[in-house]
Amino acid sequence: MACLPVPYPDELLYSVIARYSVYAGITSPKQLLDEVFQNRKIIASVAFQGHLSQISAHYQGNADLTPNKLLQGHTLFPLYSPFVHPNIAAQAKHELLTDCRHSAEVQLGKAASKVKSPHYLRYCPLCVGAQVKQYGEAFWARRWQLPGLSVCAEHGMYLIRTPVLISEVHRHQFIALSPHVLLHSSALRTTKKIALLAAYAQQLLNLPERRIHSLQWSCFYYQLAKQLGFVRGKRVEHNLIANLVLGYWGVHTLASFSLNINRADENNWLRCLFRKHRKSFSYLQHLVVWQAFYEQQLELAKILFEVSQLPQSHYDDVPAHIEPVIVDQIRRTEWQHVVAKFGVKGARSQGFAGLYIWLYRHDKQWLMQFNQGSVRPSIAKISKVDWPSRDKKYVKQLILLMNKVETQLYSGRHTVTWLVTHANIPLSQIKHLEKLPLCKLFFEKYCESIEEYQCRRIALACIDFLKKHEQLKAWRIERVAGLSKERTRPIVSQLLGYAVKYEAS
Ligand SMILES: [Zn+2]
Repeated sequence: MACLPVPYPDELLYSVIARYSVYAGITSPKQLLDEVFQNRKIIASVAFQGHLSQISAHYQGNADLTPNKLLQGHTLFPLYSPFVHPNIAAQAKHELLTDCRHSAEVQLGKAASKVKSPHYLRYCPLCVGAQVKQYGEAFWARRWQLPGLSVCAEHGMYLIRTPVLISEVHRHQFIALSPHVLLHSSALRTTKKIALLAAYAQQLLNLPERRIHSLQWSCFYYQLAKQLGFVRGKRVEHNLIANLVLGYWGVHTLASFSLNINRADENNWLRCLFRKHRKSFSYLQHLVVWQAFYEQQLELAKILFEVSQLPQSHYDDVPAHIEPVIVDQIRRTEWQHVVAKFGVKGARSQGFAGLYIWLYRHDKQWLMQFNQGSVRPSIAKISKVDWPSRDKKYVKQLILLMNKVETQLYSGRHTVTWLVTHANIPLSQIKHLEKLPLCKLFFEKYCESIEEYQCRRIALACIDFLKKHEQLKAWRIERVAGLSKERTRPIVSQLLGYAVKYEAS
């Protein structure tokens, strides 16, 4: 039985075994594996050290160091388990706890994730100082090895990369955090937002285990979008969500997490997160979005608990969750101010979406009432067209046309369409007839009914005959006028009858 040291809070199991090798003076990796696992093929893993029941056995029944507690408290398993399918998490857990080969890195999505795991072990010099002061030695902390984040949550400092490469080459080696791996570079302070993100990640490491189905995640994100006013009808407004997340983090910070958002890509990760979940997402993708929405008010434990309670059904069926009202007069005043400046819609697109969301979540009734009262009256369309002069111009064209066609036997019936097209006026202008009073008057006076059209043709045919001193015969007039007995309207026949009789007398 090897006398393994008891893990320090947040210490990686990898580090515990490495410390043991230092204590026991073991320099051969194979000898170390023999002593701890009685198996020389065991692989050293920073993120997911397996064979936990064997490691736990060295502690001889210590209730604080059961295989499950080692998994939850001293590996990165808690960073992954809530975000993968419960069956996958259970399978990976089973493999890590028992004495068998495991494929946790693949199963939990670490290997394929968009958010990359560090290649070298890292440390925070301030934490190391505190460890030495408190425990008399330094050790590898979990919170320094998070994928995508290279910031210490405790101190808000960028982590320093050591020369210890996490690779296949050293797969059987456990390397301790000893003075020779520490580099003498000074740490730099990160931004408040990134430090807060690291703090949330650290919280996540220490939360109780939750089993969450992908349908519950889909449901949660739909509800979230709905609560924050990013759903119109049934459609999620992905662009507004992207505005908010990009606006909060900025392009460069997102790129530093390997979480760029390509708006042109219909399937960018942010859009996929707010759609039905077909694959799992990294802890960092979830946290980045939640922090952009909730900022300092993010309650991770509450979110994970609530999501785990959601029905595993399609998100459309789930009623929206209602938050208690919080009155924040400063935020209300700020919103009133920006709405006065940009209008409701403008304020949301001018960088105040976060404020809108906060109010929507905490003070919805007031927000809705205020917004409704602030709808800008739509400004009356200022007419750029000089309709009176256009009216005069068109009516002149129509009069010229009428002078020309009034005495032409073969022009078509004078309808509005016929006159407009023959006067070279765009047909679309007829729609604005109420703005063209002169034209309107013209049409009332000169447009022909079928009877009027036939009468005009009869009259013109008669005039034609009379000019040539020919005798007026009803059948001849009808033929010249292009009319037939069947088509001629009664009043027109009457006129024809008069004309013939008049000429005969
Ligand atoms: Zn630190």
